[in-house]
Amino acid sequence: MPFCPVHRIEFAEGVTHCSENGCNAELVAELPEEEVLEFIDVYECYEVAEAELIVSLLKDAGHEALYRDTISHAFPMTMGAHGAKRILVVKNAREEAAKLIEQARADEVISKEGHLTA
Ligand SMILES: [Zn+2]
Repeated sequence: MPFCPVHRIEFAEGVTHCSENGCNAELVAELPEEEVLEFIDVYECYEVAEAELIVSLLKDAGHEALYRDTISHAFPMTMGAHGAKRILVVKNAREEAAKLIEQARADEVISKEGHLTA
């Protein structure tokens, strides 16, 4: 599977360039094992601004975080502004990230339109 050397995340076979915001780095076949961070999704929301806000909240708290547009295989053209945004964090920080997001919701820093992913 190809990896982005900048984000150190894995992409599906056949993808050649990183799809993270503004990255577009050429993907490499593999990264040294110890350098691969395993990102998993923790939250889903629907606004780019909100996704960016959550990522910056998590980063301020010392977590690696990023977001992705979810890809609908049935409707690939719904990517981008209209698709859901998935917030991803490093696997072992997921629980703490979820708490931070819950707190941000409770404090009304972010809207309640999103939801934690299972
Ligand atoms: Zn990248």
